[in-house]
Amino acid sequence: MLDHPFSLAQLRVVLIGTSHPGNIGGVARAMKNMGLTDLALVAPRCEVRTSEAISRASGADALVAAAPIHTSLDDAVADATLVVGASARSRTLPWPMLTPRQLSDTLTSELSSQEARVALVFGREDSGLTNEELQRCHRHVNIPANPDFSSLNLAAAVQVLAYECRQAWLQESPSDTGEVPTSFGVEWDSPLASHADMERFFTHLERALIAVEFHDPAKPRQLMARLRRLYLRARPDQMEISILRGILTAMEKKANNAR
Ligand code: SAH
Repeated sequence: MLDHPFSLAQLRVVLIGTSHPGNIGGVARAMKNMGLTDLALVAPRCEVRTSEAISRASGADALVAAAPIHTSLDDAVADATLVVGASARSRTLPWPMLTPRQLSDTLTSELSSQEARVALVFGREDSGLTNEELQRCHRHVNIPANPDFSSLNLAAAVQVLAYECRQAWLQESPSDTGEVPTSFGVEWDSPLASHADMERFFTHLERALIAVEFHDPAKPRQLMARLRRLYLRARPDQMEISILRGILTAMEKKANNAR
């Protein structure tokens, strides 16, 4: 028997503001074909369990019947450890962007803990996902379709991602080294911070946390180690580091004035 690297039950498909019941049925079918079971709906703009949904599901209507209906995206993905928004368009603010293959390559490490959950979020048929919704996602995924005709039908987009996820599940992903990706797959708006930038930031961070009496170097526990892990995991760019250092300078100024 094949030893699967994760469970397909750890993947959730979230549909926001869907307006055609047939698409919800089509998504359920696409999911069940690939072995996915966890479907969640956010504020659907149509009746969900209609005869059209059931007929398009062609045998996968149990997924539709079991799908919780949430009022907000936050509720639908509250327990997710990675939230990925599927988007046909690039936005004004660059965001970490993956292809479906790159996403599936990360699943073995993303889902290595049984509690881990990956949520794949899909938008409205007419207007996709809002910027506010996309900015709640850790990553965005784009199906590299014909640039002149790049918007897939909702159920077709779910099919492509579900297929890639299944391929990762069928085999231990050889390309997965558990490493944080070094590039986000988009033209970034600021160069990544260098090791030296990061070290200067950590020195400044520690000094400011001491100044506001949050951090006591005599009782360090693992505070700085944990903060290092947090910021290094995020791969900050130079602009973000300069904003963070500005915040630290303002904190230090207040702390010194209060003395
Ligand atoms: N007209 C909308 C697209 C709606 S398609 C727009 O311009 O944004 C419905 C949903 O399917 C999208 O919100 C997205 O989640 C998904 N989708 C469609 N085409 C996609 C593509 N090429 N890459 C990633 N997701 C896609």
